[in-house]
Amino acid sequence: MFEPLPQYPDHLALEEEILAWWDAEHVFDRLRERNRGGPPFGFMDGPITANNPMGAHHCWGRTLKDVFQRYKALQGHDLRYQNGFDCQGLWVEVGVERELGLNSKREIEEYGIAEFAQRCKERVAKYAEIITDQCRRLGMWMDWGNDYYTFSDTNIEYIWRFLKECHERGWLYKGHRSVEWCPRCGTSLSQHELINSYAELTHPSLYVRFPLEGRKGESLVVWTTTPWTLPANVAAAVKPDAEYGLTDGGDWWAVERNPDATFVRRVRGEELVGQEYEGPFDSLPAQEGVVHRVIPWDEVALTEGTGIVHIAPGCGAEDFELSRVHDLPVLTPIDEAGNFYREYGEFEGRSTQDVEGPVVVELERRGLLVEAGSIVHRYPICWRCSTSLVFRIADDWMIRADEIRQPMLDANATVQWTPDFYSKRMDDWLRNMGDWNISRSRYFGLPLPFYPCDSCGRLTVVGSLDELRGRATGGLEQLKELHRPWIDDVPIRCDCGAELKRVPEVGDAWLDAGIVPFSTLGWENPEWKEHGYATGAAAGLTGADLPDHAYWEKWFPAHWVSEMREQIRLWFYSQCFMSVTLTGKSPYLSVLTYEKLLDEHGREMHRSWGNAINAAEALQNIGADVIRFMFCEHVPSQNLKFGYGPAAEIRRRLLTLWNSVKFFVDYANVGGFRPGPEVPGELQPLDRWLLERTEQLAAEMTDAYERYWTPALIRAFDSFVDDLSNWYIRRSRRRFWNGDEVALWTLWYALVRSLQVIGPVMPFLADYLWRRLRAEDATDSVFLAPWPEPRARDEQLLHEVAEVRRVVELGRQARGDASIKLRQPLRRLVVQGARSAQPHADEIAEELRVKEVEFGPVEAMEVRVKPNLPLLGPKLGKELGAVRSALEAGEFEQLAGGGVRVNGRELAPEEVLVERRPRAGWALAEDDAVTVAVTTELDDELRLEGRVLDLIHQLNSMRKDAGLALTDRIRVTLPASLADLLEHADWIKEEVLATEIATDSVSEPEIELQGSDPEGV
Ligand SMILES: [Zn+2]
Ligand SMILES: [Zn+2]
Repeated sequence: MFEPLPQYPDHLALEEEILAWWDAEHVFDRLRERNRGGPPFGFMDGPITANNPMGAHHCWGRTLKDVFQRYKALQGHDLRYQNGFDCQGLWVEVGVERELGLNSKREIEEYGIAEFAQRCKERVAKYAEIITDQCRRLGMWMDWGNDYYTFSDTNIEYIWRFLKECHERGWLYKGHRSVEWCPRCGTSLSQHELINSYAELTHPSLYVRFPLEGRKGESLVVWTTTPWTLPANVAAAVKPDAEYGLTDGGDWWAVERNPDATFVRRVRGEELVGQEYEGPFDSLPAQEGVVHRVIPWDEVALTEGTGIVHIAPGCGAEDFELSRVHDLPVLTPIDEAGNFYREYGEFEGRSTQDVEGPVVVELERRGLLVEAGSIVHRYPICWRCSTSLVFRIADDWMIRADEIRQPMLDANATVQWTPDFYSKRMDDWLRNMGDWNISRSRYFGLPLPFYPCDSCGRLTVVGSLDELRGRATGGLEQLKELHRPWIDDVPIRCDCGAELKRVPEVGDAWLDAGIVPFSTLGWENPEWKEHGYATGAAAGLTGADLPDHAYWEKWFPAHWVSEMREQIRLWFYSQCFMSVTLTGKSPYLSVLTYEKLLDEHGREMHRSWGNAINAAEALQNIGADVIRFMFCEHVPSQNLKFGYGPAAEIRRRLLTLWNSVKFFVDYANVGGFRPGPEVPGELQPLDRWLLERTEQLAAEMTDAYERYWTPALIRAFDSFVDDLSNWYIRRSRRRFWNGDEVALWTLWYALVRSLQVIGPVMPFLADYLWRRLRAEDATDSVFLAPWPEPRARDEQLLHEVAEVRRVVELGRQARGDASIKLRQPLRRLVVQGARSAQPHADEIAEELRVKEVEFGPVEAMEVRVKPNLPLLGPKLGKELGAVRSALEAGEFEQLAGGGVRVNGRELAPEEVLVERRPRAGWALAEDDAVTVAVTTELDDELRLEGRVLDLIHQLNSMRKDAGLALTDRIRVTLPASLADLLEHADWIKEEVLATEIATDSVSEPEIELQGSDPEGV
């Protein structure tokens, strides 16, 4: 007996059942045991930030990772299955700040950095656990409990080594530059954090006068959208070769920017250069001694503003560069929280936004304001807290990128990207990448091991914990982990003898994630340390080992990694940077990347819009298999529309597989069928075809898995299930009714094989059905069975049947177009093309219910041509009537190129409307190469057969409604009006399992149970 299936699958329940069974039977452990020592397949997990529960988009990447790991394991590969958690940096810090209600760095320091670090660790531990549960529910098989955590001391030490290497190569420097700064987070951001982090914001738009010195009544007019920068103005820039004009009102503009003005004087920009002017806020202490002057700048845009640009070197990147060229003073108005310094008088202590009003009022009072309005523009915001960014001068630690650029491009050339055009995206990023800003003025992050010496000027970069211990002058006893504040209390000795303190900055979180191909694999580690990775903040959270160098040799580089496309400038970049620095090689051989997840209507998901679906909701309401199927079907280079609508559609599609298995189980149980290793008899042609088709599926799926191309998996599987259900089962129904063991065996074999190859995509449903169908000597889980090895196939047979299915599809379409239902037999069918379907003419006839099938040219088509009136009317005038009648009568000749000859005239293709349609009495459908035409005329014989088929359909529906078993025999009573159908009594009996058919004075057909007859099948 096969365990019977319910009518419909309860995905959620069966997934819970399988999860519990996997655990109870240690299926994953057994799989790992089986594959131990097999050929390694290196997969490196990009760490997920343990800062929140997963969103639906996380399930996408996690699905892809699991699909290909499961496939490789089925192939016998040995895998590491190590999951990673990202644990420090702004994400976690801002999460904890919100939790604690803190909103500035001052408040964090009042709270206490040690306590704050503790809360960060607790948050990571909490969400690591939640994420683990969610991944398990998704079906992700990982070595849970031996995860890597990027805040482990081991991870940090490996980054220290990398930084020391950068320092030894002379790449490390402290930049004094204008940087994009988040005033709320109190830190600068790096280039890769800025991309895509923009919002449409409304800002003031001011036109302001700068009165010229020594030219009474004349002013420069500048335009700005950042009024807060005016108190730090030191210069005004003009384009040297542009034309500037003085208006009759005394204002200087670029002529091009003010075309309506009356200019009383015109000069070239260079003639204004050197001119001094009165600054807008000269009375502020900060402005003391500043001489404001006009400078030349070729980059001044004449597409917006006035053509005269206000320059504040402390508030803008380009302004800062100009200060170097023209030796301008640099006034830095705001502190790291974005508040004005003391030297800014009435603005002191206020934020950049708060000073906008007072700035405008003051300009207005002094008659310097030409116009004040507002502008909506794209403006950079903090990727973490959405605060508008400002420019500030900061001293950030940087790693020079120029020397590593070419080696990284060379390394990327060795990587196989899927889809392949992303390789170019990576190249573009590498070509344009600036120096890497690695410092953040924050608390819970990688402590930069930089110890500058004021006495000798040397910078010491500590490369390991041992080195720190060796150089420390104290504080080691309180160093519980390599984090602030503890690390800051360990001063070290400089080679010159001076005592040094660490710089206060922490590191960019992408250093944490980028080092994992080294830190987790034991690069250059002499001795394997059990649980050796579980150091510092990670102690107690993971049991991960620190392997030895031989292990690194075995597993580096990773065969495959997979993350979202934005990781090109993040994780793919940072690990490539670090790996090329340390080894000269790419850390991965192939990459699968994918785009963004949107809601089902194509909008971005946002909590506040009410359209976000998190992983928990998705898993609870949709179930893992359907989610995984959706992600796999999607072409990864396009954004994915995720939601309950698409999920319901997939659930509906999966019913075909379910119903096919259920059909098999029901009939196999009726006949007491048990599958053996060999076919229990002689295969019929259709059986041979299904077996070949099954081989073809295995080959197509293997190929798609090898290419990391999931859409091809789903296409192959869908098409197979359609063939199995809508061709093999439908065409073999009668054999199943008769308990044909060969048909049962063939169907069983095809189903079992298909479960094996779809297992990685839908692991729960596959194992659930496998457990019901498997042969007694087969493994208890589909994931422990060996992968079906592809073998040579009968391509001719496969092609023939594919053509037959195509003809049948077109035939159905033709009947449908003519509104003739499939139960109405027809006389004749002509097929043009699809020659290889010819040996299967009988099957086509049966499927399409036609008496004769012919292969040859279809002449059932006629071409009708009508005049295109808007064109031909004016052209032909009176002659139009005659042309029209000739066309209607078919008295025309079609010309090559689409034109027509009629009435002695040649008409161009656009002058006529050509319509091809079937001749009367025919229905027709065609695709590129095949045309199928069927006669639509009915005679008495055909009508009678149509009525018989209607009756059979009706009786079988009645059987179903009455809940009869498949083998139950019935007695049928028909109304006298149907007596003429008894001519086909035997046919009807056979189709509805009737022992007897009679007529009586009933108004509708009736059926009556005869009692089941197990022998009589
Ligand atoms: Zn921020
Ligand atoms: Zn020194």
